[in-house]
Amino acid sequence: MLAKTGGRYRVLSSGVTLEATLRGRLKRGQAQVLVGDRVTLRSHTDAAVTIEAVAERKSVLRRRTPGRRHGVRLVAANLDQVAVVGAARQPDWAPQLMDRFIAVAAASDLPIAVVINKCDLLDDPVALGRAYELAGYEVLYTSVPAGMGLGELRDLLAGRSSLFTGPTGVGKSSLLNALQPGLRLRTGVVSRRSHSGRHTTVAAEMYPFAHGGFVVDTPGLRDIGLWGLERAEVEAAFREFRPHVGHCKFDDCHHLHEPGCAVRAATERGEIVASRLDSYRRMLQEAHAAARPWHTERDR
Ligand code: GDP
Ligand code: ZN
Repeated sequence: MLAKTGGRYRVLSSGVTLEATLRGRLKRGQAQVLVGDRVTLRSHTDAAVTIEAVAERKSVLRRRTPGRRHGVRLVAANLDQVAVVGAARQPDWAPQLMDRFIAVAAASDLPIAVVINKCDLLDDPVALGRAYELAGYEVLYTSVPAGMGLGELRDLLAGRSSLFTGPTGVGKSSLLNALQPGLRLRTGVVSRRSHSGRHTTVAAEMYPFAHGGFVVDTPGLRDIGLWGLERAEVEAAFREFRPHVGHCKFDDCHHLHEPGCAVRAATERGEIVASRLDSYRRMLQEAHAAARPWHTERDR
């Protein structure tokens, strides 16, 4: 399933895009069909197409909405990976924001790749990527005007289902357009008029990728400050801390300001990059304040 608008689902069937509705039985059972779901279709004599069944999912990207509208929203199914894109400059490199996008993907147990774009604007972009290379993530260095890293990005996306995310203006649409002219992400768009004329938040949308696989765009993810992560999820997102956590003086060390903290010691030795520890601390403090809604670090 590629996209949903109201009760209509855009589905891809043998290379052809069709519009389908949900079979009554599924609707009554309140089944949720997600972008990326594999579905069983049925054609009717009046040319209508219905979704009869949803196949078991191998992954689900979840979004938790804390505060007043507390709950879990399922964003996309069957993703193979999340590509988190940032710009070396223009807008300024924003590690806090990158770490939030990464943590959200990590909380859904999805593999992550970090893409540092606009490398033509900075002499040493590899210094920015070091934090993520130390954490064991694949890091791509790209530039659209210089044609840098585009082959690697194509290989990363080819044949897989990928969510392409990151702050506005970092070059996500430009990168994808360079690989597949005409594939236009609606980044920067927060809402549009639905068929009924009401304003609705635009949900995830999936596009077939010319080199095989799919790319998912989720404008709704841009509001990353509204993601509620729990302490365990925050800790899990900073995977380069793992070899050190067992060596802290206190078993329940939060790696904030406790004495004998092995994570801090590793940071002082350069085995963990300081901006990552900083991101972790801020996100942990937010997790502790989770009883109330938080509105920090809005997308820029
Ligand atoms: P998005 O919001 O992430 O989809 O970003 P866009 O693709 O709309 O790009 C935002 C701006 O950055 C546009 O003016 C692009 O031309 C520019 N841009 C994109 N990629 C690069 C790059 O690699 N280098 C430079 N210098 N500019 C870029
Ligand atoms: Zn510690």
